[in-house]
Amino acid sequence: VKQSAARPRLYDTAAIQQLDSAHYLHPFTNFQDLNAKGARVMVRGEGIYLWDSQGSKILDGMSGLWCVNVGYGRTRISEAVYRQMETLPFYNSFFNTTNVPAVQLAAKLVEIAPLYFNHVFFTGSGSEANDTNVRMVRRYWDLLGQPQRHTIISRHNAYHGSTVAGASLGGMDGMHAQGGLPIPGIVHIGQPNYFESGKGMSEDAFGLLAASWLEEKILELGPEQVAAFIGEPVQGAGGVLIPPASYWPEIQRICDKYGVLLIADEVICGFGRLGKWFASELFGIKPDLITFAKGVTSGYVPLGGVLVGDRVADVLIDKGGEFNHGFTYSGHPVACAAALENIRIIEEEELVRKVAEDTGPYLKKRFAELGGHPLVGHADSCGFVAGLNLVRRKGATMHDCQLFEPEQGVGMICRGYLFDKGMIMRAVGDRMIVAPPLVMTRAQIDEMIALIRACLDATHADLRERGWV
Ligand code: PMP
Repeated sequence: VKQSAARPRLYDTAAIQQLDSAHYLHPFTNFQDLNAKGARVMVRGEGIYLWDSQGSKILDGMSGLWCVNVGYGRTRISEAVYRQMETLPFYNSFFNTTNVPAVQLAAKLVEIAPLYFNHVFFTGSGSEANDTNVRMVRRYWDLLGQPQRHTIISRHNAYHGSTVAGASLGGMDGMHAQGGLPIPGIVHIGQPNYFESGKGMSEDAFGLLAASWLEEKILELGPEQVAAFIGEPVQGAGGVLIPPASYWPEIQRICDKYGVLLIADEVICGFGRLGKWFASELFGIKPDLITFAKGVTSGYVPLGGVLVGDRVADVLIDKGGEFNHGFTYSGHPVACAAALENIRIIEEEELVRKVAEDTGPYLKKRFAELGGHPLVGHADSCGFVAGLNLVRRKGATMHDCQLFEPEQGVGMICRGYLFDKGMIMRAVGDRMIVAPPLVMTRAQIDEMIALIRACLDATHADLRERGWV
């Protein structure tokens, strides 16, 4: 039964927090710090808003965790899930069996994907999908008689998941420091972060330079050792890093030149987030494999997978025999039913077109205005992801700004004000980022920008008081 906003249920927040501290180990969390302050208890969602157990309304600028593309409270998805659970809650796809939602979803994904994608491998999450990529590209080269061709090149500050292979593909130092990662056969090059590293160069020249690091690495390893390059079209968890326009076409050229497979990790960028079904189309690249998750179900039920292009699929199918890989929940009928309904909503409400032509450009314009704030050194967006860099003193260009020291934790101070004012934005160092639900209207964009501006003002006043600006 859907809960009415008029009659909010009462929660014993302290009791829930106490149980939470006692038993629930949260992901990517300092357990002691969280236990000391108690977790915020989220209890309900509707559209772009959440409510916590104390009745506070919160504007969710992060779509949950980059995933609730169609917004919260979509009865159509819960009904589709209910119907599927009543009919067939589970069956595996291992024993020469299949199920109707998985088949329909595979066909639907092939329909919305670029033309040369005709196959899908389902997983339960983005991390498992990237593990699948590692196994699949290595299998591909084995089948072609090049078993030495196993090294995968990724980038520093990339995020590709938290399983052993996913975290190895990712380029997060903090993750590599725990548990002896990366695993062998995965190496990293620099990221195309123009704000951080592009001083004195045009954006295009920097994009070409950052792409050349891939060629350097391929030549250093020997092309005959390199299986694939993996990258997020726009780095998400790394801080919404939008690459220069010259970057991806040059990456494609280099991959083509050396026959290296290209994997686009579209776990965040897919399903309309950047104003295309898949961001590879936006950046003009033709990846051999596309990782997806999150937006495929808008996060209502876990689901991920890999879109497998013809180059790889033909080899796996024609020469491969059995591929010894898969998960209990590969092609889970309930998750696939949720995805089908979610994609129907995206189509019927034309959310991809809206982000491309209407609300995305409007978000860009409003976000650019925040660039005028005394605390903001640079603000940019792409479709429905956006970010701004907090700086101590603005400069003539983004590269002449004076930055804060990382230990000052200015991003977290700003995030604290946002939290108090009922707005969720994520802090990656001193870069503040949003990825709102794709259903956000122009009026709601105005509301979000006003909240962000108020929090920037509050942060600025706070920092002045500390003598930091
Ligand atoms: N790839 C990218 C680009 C991601 O952003 C994420 C999750 N944030 C993942 C992979 C991992 O997905 P999951 O958390 O579903 O395993």
